[in-house]
Amino acid sequence: MIYLDNAATTRTDPDVVAEMLPFFSEDYGNPSGIYGIAQKSRAAVTAAREKTAHVLGCRADEIFFTSCGSEADNWALKAAFEACRDKGNHIITTQIEHPAILNTCEYLERERGAEITRLAVNEDGVVDLGELEASIRPDTILISVMTANNEIGTIEPIRQIGEIARRHDVLFHTDAVQAFGQIPLHADELNIDMLSASAHKFNGPKGAGFLYIRKGVGIRSFLHGGAQEYNRRAGTENVPGIVGLGAAAKKAEENLARKMEKETRLRDYLIRRIREEVPNVKLNGPDPAVARAGRLPNNVNFSFEFVEGESLLIMLDMRQICASSGSACSSGSLSPSHVLKAIGLSDSLAHGALRLTLSAETTKEELDTTVEAIRGIVERLRGMSPRYEAYRKGTLQAETGSSAF
Ligand code: PLP
Repeated sequence: MIYLDNAATTRTDPDVVAEMLPFFSEDYGNPSGIYGIAQKSRAAVTAAREKTAHVLGCRADEIFFTSCGSEADNWALKAAFEACRDKGNHIITTQIEHPAILNTCEYLERERGAEITRLAVNEDGVVDLGELEASIRPDTILISVMTANNEIGTIEPIRQIGEIARRHDVLFHTDAVQAFGQIPLHADELNIDMLSASAHKFNGPKGAGFLYIRKGVGIRSFLHGGAQEYNRRAGTENVPGIVGLGAAAKKAEENLARKMEKETRLRDYLIRRIREEVPNVKLNGPDPAVARAGRLPNNVNFSFEFVEGESLLIMLDMRQICASSGSACSSGSLSPSHVLKAIGLSDSLAHGALRLTLSAETTKEELDTTVEAIRGIVERLRGMSPRYEAYRKGTLQAETGSSAF
């Protein structure tokens, strides 16, 4: 199998699994207990919190463990909305957020009377800072902009957005689910008030995430019950999951420079080969060769004109190659990706998109095999396409450049 869907989820690192295992079967105490194995669990949760905080350069008591990135996103938005009711009801976000943000905003708008500004992005997927600042109003309570996009890998100008938010005394949340463990992030340098992340995206286990909440940001509990997580997130801690998250965070921090260097090299190799060897394609998201905007080191997203991304995916799967046609959460739905629409793609180019996301374990040989497979499949699929036939005959213009026929 060739696994190129690391934005959907990653393989849990075997060393991480080894650290987690004792907390299922031997050291299974509830961290709230006072006896030996309970204290061992408590110490393990504390150590995981410290490791996670170290990556962000923040205090350990600013890390609050959750069950996933979606929970952290829901918590940040809903609790900020509640905490700032006296000031206003206006939230600024973007059109390209993950559904965990978009659908939470829609809920707050529909059920709770929030007013939402959804900022457009440019063709690279980047938010316009001038437009963002101009959209701030006296009743603006929160800005939520993702650190990096899950479909096209765009890295947003988070530090500048944080500066603007601070200048206007507005809370700033960032969904860093795709960025934490993939690129350097420092909470203070980036002027972040809240940040969401999820362990399964950086070689940790599924079912564990966290919300960073800067000291002094007065948002309250999301889950009510016991006093866990400094009284702000009730529920017996997922000790093995939290241990795994901490171990994965530490490993990601230690390996970050090497991983980024390797992934960037392989990403650019893959982009170059597809561009050179498959006609009528469009790279979606920032072009590393032009470097107008940052792109996640592991993200490649191409539209193959005259091809359905879903068909391409199925035929890659038959060759044991795992990829995605958009975000994992929207695959299966036939509407074109909201992210690809937001960067200006036509429906037909958006339907022809394929996302390939690498890991530190990806090899050049795997990418060679993948390019060969894509070339053959695209040729076969185009051979069955009436639109491609029309393009060949010169009766249809290609969106991706002039006819070679
Ligand atoms: N935010 C982004 C940008 C994501 O890519 C994802 C998952 O794909 C999430 C949030 C949700 O994270 P989780 O799967 O941990 O709920």
